[in-house]
Amino acid sequence: MYTINRIASIVDASSVLANKEAAIEYLITDSRKVTFAASSLFFTLKTEHRNALVFLDDLYQQGVRNFVVQEEIDFSKYKDANFLVVKNSLKALQKLAQFHRLQFHYPVMGITGSNGKTIVKEWLNFLLSDSYKIVRSPRSYNSQIGVPLSIWQMNAENDLGIFEAGISERNEMDALRKIIQPTIGILTNIGDAHDKGFESRKQKLQEKLRLFQHSKIVFANADDENIKASIGEVLNTDIFSFGKNKNATLHITAVKKEQNKTVIEGVFENNTLHITIPFLDEASVQNALICWAVALYFKVSESVIMEKMAQLPAIDMRLQVLPAINGCTVINDSYSLDIDSLSVGLDLLNQQLLSKTVILSDVHEAEERTYIQILDILHHKKISRLIAIGKFWESLKPFMGSKIPIIETYNSTFDFVQQFHAGQFKNESILLKGARLFRFEDILNLLVEKVHQTRLEINLSNIVHNFKTYKKRLQPSTKMMAMVKAFAYGSGSVEIASILQYHKIDYLAVAYADEGVELRNAGINLPIMVMNIDEYGFEAMLQHNLEPEIYSFKILKEFTVFVQKQAVAQYPVHLKLDTGMHRLGFEEGEIDRLMDELKVNKSLVIKSVFSHLSSSEDAADDNFTILQAEIFRRCCDKIQNVVHYNFIRHLANSAGIARHPDLQFDMVRLGIGLYGVDTTDKGLALKNVATLKSTIAQIKHLQPNETVGYNRMGKISQPTTTATIRIGYADGYSRKLSNGVGFVLINNHQAPVIGNVCMDMTMVDITHIDNVNEGDEVEVFGVDLPVENIAKWSDTNVYEIFTSVGQRVKRVYVEE
Ligand SMILES: *Cc1c(COP(=O)(O)O)cnc(C)c1O
Repeated sequence: MYTINRIASIVDASSVLANKEAAIEYLITDSRKVTFAASSLFFTLKTEHRNALVFLDDLYQQGVRNFVVQEEIDFSKYKDANFLVVKNSLKALQKLAQFHRLQFHYPVMGITGSNGKTIVKEWLNFLLSDSYKIVRSPRSYNSQIGVPLSIWQMNAENDLGIFEAGISERNEMDALRKIIQPTIGILTNIGDAHDKGFESRKQKLQEKLRLFQHSKIVFANADDENIKASIGEVLNTDIFSFGKNKNATLHITAVKKEQNKTVIEGVFENNTLHITIPFLDEASVQNALICWAVALYFKVSESVIMEKMAQLPAIDMRLQVLPAINGCTVINDSYSLDIDSLSVGLDLLNQQLLSKTVILSDVHEAEERTYIQILDILHHKKISRLIAIGKFWESLKPFMGSKIPIIETYNSTFDFVQQFHAGQFKNESILLKGARLFRFEDILNLLVEKVHQTRLEINLSNIVHNFKTYKKRLQPSTKMMAMVKAFAYGSGSVEIASILQYHKIDYLAVAYADEGVELRNAGINLPIMVMNIDEYGFEAMLQHNLEPEIYSFKILKEFTVFVQKQAVAQYPVHLKLDTGMHRLGFEEGEIDRLMDELKVNKSLVIKSVFSHLSSSEDAADDNFTILQAEIFRRCCDKIQNVVHYNFIRHLANSAGIARHPDLQFDMVRLGIGLYGVDTTDKGLALKNVATLKSTIAQIKHLQPNETVGYNRMGKISQPTTTATIRIGYADGYSRKLSNGVGFVLINNHQAPVIGNVCMDMTMVDITHIDNVNEGDEVEVFGVDLPVENIAKWSDTNVYEIFTSVGQRVKRVYVEE
């Protein structure tokens, strides 16, 4: 246990201390992840784009009293708080973790490499957890911030540490080495990931190996010439090598792929050994070899290795957010249960706006203390209902107190399933988290709505990535409005708005009042601009605090009259200017009259003035864009001359942000880029957000002269195998894709459309693809088949493809 005073001296801080003896248990860098405010120390990290100081008031309100800051601030504002002032908060965090690490003398593994770090860490935990009390990095906490937070979890009760280290640039590894100080080094696969920050693969490899400079032993692949050469150059530690190379410490002599498993034979210390793993892919085989080598080094018995290897779990670090019965959503995180991963699941639950329910199982081999700690965490996270399943929970029931409003216990998953009825759950977010033994998939099946087999998978983490990518291109003071009109370009407006609200976007915009009402009903409290208003929506606008776009004298008059009738003053509105798009808006020649009217209008206040670029993505029209901007600027100046308060000016859409950095004004409006499509040639490295998937309903074998589909448009000239997939033009799969124009991906092979696309189904040619079965999954667009292709083949743009995905196609949300 550290006092704040002790930490001040460890990190060399000058300090302003109200309470020197304050005990610190938790370190936080993210203001949204406070659980135990009183015993938390917040590090205000400063990045190029934001200074965490802005969260201070909020944190103080939440009860946080201990802060590390990088600059002098007005400390008197926060009486009874402790401040440590340092040169660099991140360095201070790392220094503290480094100090903490030195308190422990048990073995610590450091894992680095390009791919597989998290899987190898989780599998090692799985293989060794019967013999050791392991502390390990939560999820993929492997960055300059994640590593110190992981190390902070070490304590005297553990006897083995397993930590990941990830780097994306040169010279980052030394800091991580000093914090982890691995006694055992593990190098996973070296691929091409994160190549950007490095001159060559070799340089990258050498940088990674710096993690192991003071390790006693390093595990590495014997079949990679680069690795062999670099290790010799950089390290002089013992090497435990594995691979087909005859000189490898663990010499692999055979790898046999069977129906759904791989059998691997190897020779270690002159004994021939076998393992079987429940995977077929090469990456899993490589990762299993590493774990096998480590298990042998730790002298795990042959029978335990064999038994555990056969049960290696699939590690999917993505949390799925699924639509469920009666307006509920389920966050499915039933891969494992321990306190660290529980916190990660709870953080995601906190982003949901419905009332919060947690379903938990007993924790493998935990003592009563752990259960009390869990109850405490749930209480602090304001969980409204706990459903606790397992004998241990049941036995604790009389002692649980009333910290959580509703607690229900069940002896077993079976009991829960027996007593389940759908009416028990309504409009709540449910986190489902159980140890594997408890088979929570049975509960999942009861809660989750049966998904029509065609679904649109939305990756929320990638939405955040894209948001940040654009944010980085803005001046720090420039605000951002996200366009969540048209069901957020088909992705689901409530879900997208929730995640953006969590990440503190400034503004949202929708097309119609109804869309805004839906967001308000779901608990979104950001300001919302409504672009297309008419008198029928006024009532709803005022009732839900939605801000209209005023684009004509007619609508100005009507809205003013309505607002006056309600006796409301200074209602915020947005003036839309027509600078050349000629869709909606006031033209330059109308500004004088507009301001004459607004000058005397006490009912409305101009929140922003904006216009829309017609061709921001198109270099050929750059002169026109510049002209639009000039008109916009002139109009804004005119307006500013009349009103004596500030309003927000905004012009640029996604392509405008990318191509015209000088046109950011006070705010930008991000649309298509958020959803992963860059319509410019700026190479923004956005991540794919939407993946449309379907399944195969039937497979047929056809002979020459037979035909496929309506009007017999699919002509068969040689023996052909077709698959009928569950998607048609009613789902948004355009009829223009008929007759070989479009293709889908099956087992990552192209399967062209054969015949005409039908309303609910489409036939594709799979003659050339092996191992296809009815029920198999089909990718219609996504990472491997960019939506731009579908747009091109369908003779339209990606906007239309996204917004045409039918409402009956279920949206499924994933988070990494
Ligand atoms: C839809 C829309 C945007 C967003 O455009 P993208 O090209 O999707 O970035 C911006 N402004 C207005 C007025 C819009 O209607």
